[in-house]
This record gives sequence, structure tokens and C-alpha cells, in this order.
Amino acid sequence: MLTRTVLHITDPHLLAQPGQILHGWRVHDAFETVLSTALAATPEADALVLGGDLVDDASVAGYRWLNTRLTHIAIPVLAVAGNHEAPDIMQRELSCAVVHGQIELNEWRLLGLNSHVAGSAAGQLGKTQLAALSQTLAADSRPTVLFVHHPGWSIGSPWQDAIGLHDRDALAGIIAKAPNVRALACGHAHQAQSVTLANEATGTLTASTMRQFAPGANSFAEAPEHAPGYRVLKLNNDATVSSIHHRVEAARCAYVGPEAS
Ligand SMILES: [Zn+2]
Repeated sequence: MLTRTVLHITDPHLLAQPGQILHGWRVHDAFETVLSTALAATPEADALVLGGDLVDDASVAGYRWLNTRLTHIAIPVLAVAGNHEAPDIMQRELSCAVVHGQIELNEWRLLGLNSHVAGSAAGQLGKTQLAALSQTLAADSRPTVLFVHHPGWSIGSPWQDAIGLHDRDALAGIIAKAPNVRALACGHAHQAQSVTLANEATGTLTASTMRQFAPGANSFAEAPEHAPGYRVLKLNNDATVSSIHHRVEAARCAYVGPEAS
């Protein structure tokens, strides 16, 4: 089995027009800096996964800008929806990505799930999607990496856990029964974290490409000491998944200050 490499980039919170500012960030510039840095630093990448909260204002123009950017990427792209998202528009406009589907990398399989709940910051996969996931995992024993926007475990930050994945315990139960799930990679939390899940599977959070939140915070707190980032997942030939989280200091240039937000 060959080693495979997957880039995880998440929470760009793009807007309708390039140059628009959200929470003090020129979000298109921040995303572009992280994306181009990750691609240049990882020429061996076999796939790119966009982890949700792709377009903050759910605009058609935002998704079209992103899709145009994806036309310049030579590797397959998988995308999942976040809470700030319009999944229907996303599905329609991101023709250059697989949305909530599957990418096969030889012996490995990447699966993207949809945790978007209309009108809610928290997420949920729901009984139907969870049942389908159980079947998919049981029907094919290939090592698999799951991608969900909302973290699939309690991350130790009460305000974040309150808007996390409502049915994370059900997902954890499925992962415990499916030793072929080797990793679960999430966004939403705007911070980096790595944990060990059932069957020694790897659980990861990846930083946003714009503002960062403070790990462990009881209530909302930004962490300006942390630069935007991305994660490289290595799908190893022994069916383990290891990963390295990278910060992109250059992306700080896209921060223009709170007065401008
Ligand atoms: Zn976000």
C-alpha cells in the first residue's frame, strides 16, 4: 500500500466579492495565501479537502470565485459544508469538487459528510446519514478517512462544544465499530488539535485560514497569537494516519484590523 498525502484547509469564510472584509480579515487574501503556501510546500499532495464554512455569506458569487480558483488545482478536491454555508448552492456551484461524496486514493478512501443544520451554529449528521455511513463502512473494508465540519468529539472548550456536533456520540459509536476508519478530520473550531479516537484512529482539528479561537476557552475568545494554518495528513502504508499542522505567518498580512470589519 502506498503512502498518500491529503491537504486539509478549512473555514475560509469567503464573501461575495474579493477584497471584502470579515472580522478584520481580507478573507480571500488569507485563503489564497494559505492555499498557495500549502500547495507549494506539499508537491506530493494527492488530494485537497475543504473542511467547511467555505462561503460565509452563502453567496453564489462566493462559491463561483472558489470554484474558479479550484480549476487551477490539479489534484482531486473534496468539500464538506459548514454551519456558515448554503449546501444546495455549494453543491451546484462547486463543479470542480466532490461535495459530500467519496474520493478514492488507491487503497484509501476519503469520505465527506454533511453536518450543516439550517439556522444553527451547531451541527448534526442525522440518523439517515449515520445509517448510510455504517453501511458504507461495513460494505468496504478499505482504510477510510472521514471529513466532517463540526468536531466529532468534545474538544475541551465549553462554548465550542455547545455548538459542536450534536450527534457526536453516535458518530463515535460507529467509528468504534468500524476499525477501517483511520482518521476523522474536522474544522469549525478555528484551532489545531490532535487526539486519539477508538481503534487508535486519529482525530484532528485544523486552524481556520482567517481568525483563530483560543484552545480551552470557556467562552468566545480569539487567539491572535496564532497565525492561520492548514494540515497535512499522511495516510501511511501500515493503515495509520499521521499529520502535521502548519501555521502560515504570511497570511497575517490579510488582517487589516478590527476597525475595518
Ligand atoms: Zn468557521
